[in-house]
Amino acid sequence: SYDECYVKSVIRTIPDWPEPGVQFRDITPLFKDPKALRMISDAFIQRYIDSDITHIACIDARGFLIGSIMSYHLNLPLVLVRKKGKLPGETIHQEYKLEYGTATVEMQVDAVAEGDKVLVFDDLIATGGTILAACSIIKTLGATVSEAAALIDLPDLNGSQKIQEAGVPVHTLLAYE
Ligand code: IMP
Repeated sequence: SYDECYVKSVIRTIPDWPEPGVQFRDITPLFKDPKALRMISDAFIQRYIDSDITHIACIDARGFLIGSIMSYHLNLPLVLVRKKGKLPGETIHQEYKLEYGTATVEMQVDAVAEGDKVLVFDDLIATGGTILAACSIIKTLGATVSEAAALIDLPDLNGSQKIQEAGVPVHTLLAYE
């Protein structure tokens, strides 16, 4: 069963990366630890097993890893939210603000459509900009975002609050103050 202390013990904090002052929460050790990975995956699968979600939209790149496990076990279509320029065919993109500069996420226009109920999934919510940009694309394509989920929330940055204020429920497993 899910053991928050165990999962937290596997997540590593790297001080001053990628720049001074940032405490980077490194989840790569989770993928080297099948017990921790299974706990986390099962926790998300349990939450959505009886939901009416029709699609999982996972975010480049760490969102892909747990997103694809969820897609397999929930037997749901997986669609990709990628950094700009990675997807072929007709795409739609959304730019958003970072602390310094901007970033852009992109989806294929046939990824989701009207009537779809989408779960947006990423590894971590900081300012919320990435997930909000993904939500904006999904809504433009006519689908509904049922929930945004991530392994980790950084509540001090108010991202999960902003996502909720935009009308999207948020579910996270761990918080780091
Ligand atoms: P946001 O758009 O500010 O919410 O930032 C979230 C995005 O940045 C996610 O795609 C994360 O993968 C990445 N990110 C930001 N901070 C961290 C961190 O401390 N650890 C891992 N990923 C992070």
